[in-house]
Amino acid sequence: MNARKADDDVVGTTFERYERYLNPGMAQIVKFMGFETVEVGSEGCYVQTADGKRYLDCLGGPGVFSMGHSPPTIIEAVHRQLERMPLSSHLLLNPVTAELAERMAEVTPGDLQYSFFCNSGAEAVEGALKAARAYTRRTEIVSTVGGFHGKTYGALSASGRDVYREPFKPLLPGFTHVPYGDAEALRGAVTSETAAVILEPIQAEGGVRVPPSGYLTAAREVCDEAGALLILDEVQTGLARTGRMWGCDWEGVVPDIMTSGKALGGGVMPLAAFTATPEVWGIFEENPYVHTSTFGGNPLACAAALAALDAVEELGLCEAANERGKQLIDGLRHAAADDGEMVAEIRGRGLLIGAEFTDPDIAGLVIATLSAHDILAAYTLNNPSVIRFEPPLIITGDQVNQVVEAFAKALASTAAMLTQ
Ligand code: PLP
Repeated sequence: MNARKADDDVVGTTFERYERYLNPGMAQIVKFMGFETVEVGSEGCYVQTADGKRYLDCLGGPGVFSMGHSPPTIIEAVHRQLERMPLSSHLLLNPVTAELAERMAEVTPGDLQYSFFCNSGAEAVEGALKAARAYTRRTEIVSTVGGFHGKTYGALSASGRDVYREPFKPLLPGFTHVPYGDAEALRGAVTSETAAVILEPIQAEGGVRVPPSGYLTAAREVCDEAGALLILDEVQTGLARTGRMWGCDWEGVVPDIMTSGKALGGGVMPLAAFTATPEVWGIFEENPYVHTSTFGGNPLACAAALAALDAVEELGLCEAANERGKQLIDGLRHAAADDGEMVAEIRGRGLLIGAEFTDPDIAGLVIATLSAHDILAAYTLNNPSVIRFEPPLIITGDQVNQVVEAFAKALASTAAMLTQ
């Protein structure tokens, strides 16, 4: 069989298998976005496809590939651990898991000290919500409209977009949603029954919404006054994405519980965590097994995370996110300046950037046109009018220019399509 035929076969069978065994609608959407091919490899800022093309990845996981695709030092660390001991016996204590927990205490702000490791952001949120209820002995949770915390029941109850919630109702009782960025609305919703407020420092899936300065500080005050806990969900904003180690570092606010995930596994292993103060960790005193996970904190994933945390420092990823983020946001704004109609706003912080369009259908066309210019982009889950730009933090200045050029061309050809 020649190579071309083999490529065609892998594309055909993959689409067919998605249609028959995974998710037919998803296969259709991917085709509509212009991708009649499948991914077969990845390296640095690029994803390679079966037809021999490579795409510059501006979705980045989203937020998973901060250290790039297939980062060699992280893969090496995982290989070493794979040969030694991939999974835990689940009875004996594991030194790699212990080392990562210590590192998490060092890199998280304030008196956050104890970590629970799990496999996905949603699980981390579940754990954080359970911890808040167990610690406060209260049941009410306040979260925000447009917030995204995952799709398991507790996380979905905290998330704020109806289209994902409706089919699964009733969700957990006791959840109230207030407008994001509005400190007074938060003050009005938090009572002596509130166990916790859960917020993202920047709403990522909500359309890259940066709150007004002082919002997190106000949230901290509101929680303290009511005796409620503040949970900050850093699953997407953490590990240098916004130009600081954590999104909350921009305001110097320390939560009682912080969730992390995505880039924590270095783009190689799935890993997430919730990290809290010693006081909150009192919930494990009576029964250390009150909250557990079979695969959570496995040594393979923890080895990846240790290498990922090293990479944040060694590669200077906070500085890179600030520098390249400024270049990208300026470039996108410049490209959008000639367009009076389609782009409502370009906003963000570090390399978490969103382009809001006046209509979700226009955003869809721009995504499809970007793909024709070899750029992978997608909208945010809770706001389909916003295309996010969340490339690996190792993206170079030249690659940023390439994204900006492609965006300008995509705007021009979308405008031409709309006037036809
Ligand atoms: N929290 C935030 C802020 C997220 O952005 C996400 C995913 O996008 C999640 C939680 C859920 O993470 P996962 O998809 O790993 O369950």
